[in-house]
Amino acid sequence: NEMEKPTRVVVIPSPGFSHVASILEFAKRIVKLPNGIHVTLLIPTIANNGSPSEASKAILQSLPSTINYTFLPPIHDQELPQEAPIALTAQIAVSRSVPSIRHALMSLTSTSRLVAIVADLFGIDALILAKEMNLLSFVYCPSTAMTLSFCFFLPKLDDTVIGEFKEISEPVRIPGCVPVPGRDLPNPVQDRNSELYRNFLQRCKQLRFADGILVNSFREIEPGPIRELTEEGRGYPMVYPVGPIIQNGSGNETKFDQCLTWLDNHVPNSVIYVCFGSGGTLSQDQLNELAMGLELSGKKFLWVIRAPSESANASYLSGNNNNGGDPLRFLPSGFLDRTKKQGLVVPLWAPQAQILNHHAIGGFLTHCGWNSVLEGVMNGVPLIAWPLFAEQKMSAIFLSEDLKVALRVKANENGLVEREEVACVIRRLMEDEEYREIRRRMQSLKNVATESLQEEGSQNKILAQFAVHLMKN
Ligand code: UDP
Repeated sequence: NEMEKPTRVVVIPSPGFSHVASILEFAKRIVKLPNGIHVTLLIPTIANNGSPSEASKAILQSLPSTINYTFLPPIHDQELPQEAPIALTAQIAVSRSVPSIRHALMSLTSTSRLVAIVADLFGIDALILAKEMNLLSFVYCPSTAMTLSFCFFLPKLDDTVIGEFKEISEPVRIPGCVPVPGRDLPNPVQDRNSELYRNFLQRCKQLRFADGILVNSFREIEPGPIRELTEEGRGYPMVYPVGPIIQNGSGNETKFDQCLTWLDNHVPNSVIYVCFGSGGTLSQDQLNELAMGLELSGKKFLWVIRAPSESANASYLSGNNNNGGDPLRFLPSGFLDRTKKQGLVVPLWAPQAQILNHHAIGGFLTHCGWNSVLEGVMNGVPLIAWPLFAEQKMSAIFLSEDLKVALRVKANENGLVEREEVACVIRRLMEDEEYREIRRRMQSLKNVATESLQEEGSQNKILAQFAVHLMKN
């Protein structure tokens, strides 16, 4: 009997640790909704790049019984464009997985009452199956409301601007957001003749056809874009600001507790934590400057280091697998020895959620990946914004100029952030009286974020609205 089958939502991540981790955390909220909904994750994978990474596997092992998951047959390199940007590769991997997703959906219908598909922003092509099978279609945006507002705005920008956006003299006014110079718009729109641009634009247009969009943000942190996105009569699908969705830290952290033990020996707010997300990389020159700058700052530091590369997101899809050899050998000579009392350098991966929660941490130098930012916010840790790729420059502007909870590093004319700048910005953030306001504002943001997660807080209210929407099918 149809009514006795469990109600099920199918969730489709896109490859890459931070996308899998975020949507998975959201899946845990779905199964906690009052409707007794079950979730199946259908996870597209790419062969030969080591995915799923150890970190992704660890979080999958800690799932409640109401969530199950299947890795879809891996898409092989030959089926993917060579040397394509990562965002494109991730998306194409999902599109190529559509037949196997369809197959999986068919077999699920025999045991469950399927109501909806929730696909990651890069997995939007899979939503074609929702229409085909009469399911509701939702997009999960693991990034900012600002990014989402930009996505809805892009088709208009595309119609009205001739030439490259980086050449527009005035900053771009994304609805509800702080103005952004064209050169700081997301990477995919920096070259309008590229395949990546065409693809991104098309995806932005497709967004309108979803039944609803879930964005990992909340009103208190991004009031402007959220107001714009949720205003009635704008012709957008329903937008649910379901954030903050962050890792609760249950994973394989025990393996890494050398960081936490090290932090235990430090006084509150004394250590700067340095990490560029799950796959951000620096050039060799930049790595040297950062190392020398940390040393020069005289501040205690905990630095997660990856082998250098000329492409800023070189190890994104391979996550924490060690492609470039031992990262420590790229450090300036004598550095480890000279700083052995000052800092801890951790190759590849550290338990970030726990680290940011440690009282010794007084600042976070981040590439501004949205998960990292939210983890910083939830722990009241003020930020140094060092954006690398994707929408990170836009986020850096929002964090430093609008929210004013971050200081942004300045690069020289060659794009290099010099050691003196590194040292200076760290000292400012952590000790200058002048910048005390930044620390205070981050603390109050932490308080409102924590409140939003309470039983009676805004997150549960938004999730309840989403639950009503789900049950319409
Ligand atoms: N992360 C971690 N340890 C590391 C590096 C990253 O646990 O050494 C986690 C981090 O806590 C965050 C995610 O990986 O949850 C990175 O996501 P973010 O959106 O900040 O950046 P991305 O990886 O997408 O560039």
